[in-house]
Amino acid sequence: MKIIEDNHAYVNSLLVVIILMPIFLIIIFTISFSFTLANDSAGDLSADMLKDSSRDVENQLNRISSEAMHNLSRILLENKHPCTNSTKTLRVMIQDAVDNLTGKYIQRGIMINCTIINIYPSDDPYCFDVYYRINSTFINDSSKNIVNKEKITVSMVDSAYPVYDVYPLFRVNVDIANDSYVYRVDDVAYHNATSGLIFKRCPYEDYTGHAHSNLTMLDCLNNHYYHFSHDGLCVFCRLENRSTCPHAGLETFIIPTHRLNESTSSVDHVYFNESASGHYNGTIRDFNESFIYLDNAHGGKYGF
Ligand SMILES: [Zn+2]
Ligand SMILES: [Zn+2]
Repeated sequence: MKIIEDNHAYVNSLLVVIILMPIFLIIIFTISFSFTLANDSAGDLSADMLKDSSRDVENQLNRISSEAMHNLSRILLENKHPCTNSTKTLRVMIQDAVDNLTGKYIQRGIMINCTIINIYPSDDPYCFDVYYRINSTFINDSSKNIVNKEKITVSMVDSAYPVYDVYPLFRVNVDIANDSYVYRVDDVAYHNATSGLIFKRCPYEDYTGHAHSNLTMLDCLNNHYYHFSHDGLCVFCRLENRSTCPHAGLETFIIPTHRLNESTSSVDHVYFNESASGHYNGTIRDFNESFIYLDNAHGGKYGF
């Protein structure tokens, strides 16, 4: 009888184990599954955080580069001294500003290394190119990282950070008044002449149209706009006070004050060119109460 009871108990406990086993298994499986899920979403979240931080820095590079270019030109304007290597100086200034920004991510546990590799004059002379490499990782987990290598093209004319044309300052005696240079030169035609202080893109992109409307020509002169030019100097060569420039360049007009039949051409790179062959004359081109002097090549370019 005792043996039968014991057997009964044994069978009962076996049954309990058999019934409970799958429940245990389900519980263990569910726990481990939700743990994996939680781990995965934490992983996704940290990857997103890294991506967002990296993108934040990249999104600010354009503004930082614009501001650095504005500051570089302003410093040269204030010091009245050209730069020996303007792309290198600008690269260092952008790097400093970027380091200042990326330093703020360290408190959040994120290490961002953004290296400004190089600065080049762009094919578009109103812009410059910034090449950079960015590497973002967690301070406590370097297994997760994001690397990106890119180029951005930064405008020097559509931003809140105007870029000063310091070139006239290095070439002749000038004063500054109302965002213009006033030429304190002996040359009768150019005594008190004016040209622009800030680079601005001429909106009249069909250049030959300048001469076809007095309003266009006057608006261009009054605003001291700059034009594409193969012979003109780029912004970087202007910052370095060079005489020639291998890059896509710009030209603007120096507006003379006295009417003569002819005088030095009013295109800035012609006026500033020191070589005897380059300093060529232009004939007077009249429109309403204003006038400039243009040589034949530039006369043709602007539709005269
Ligand atoms: Zn123009
Ligand atoms: Zn150049």
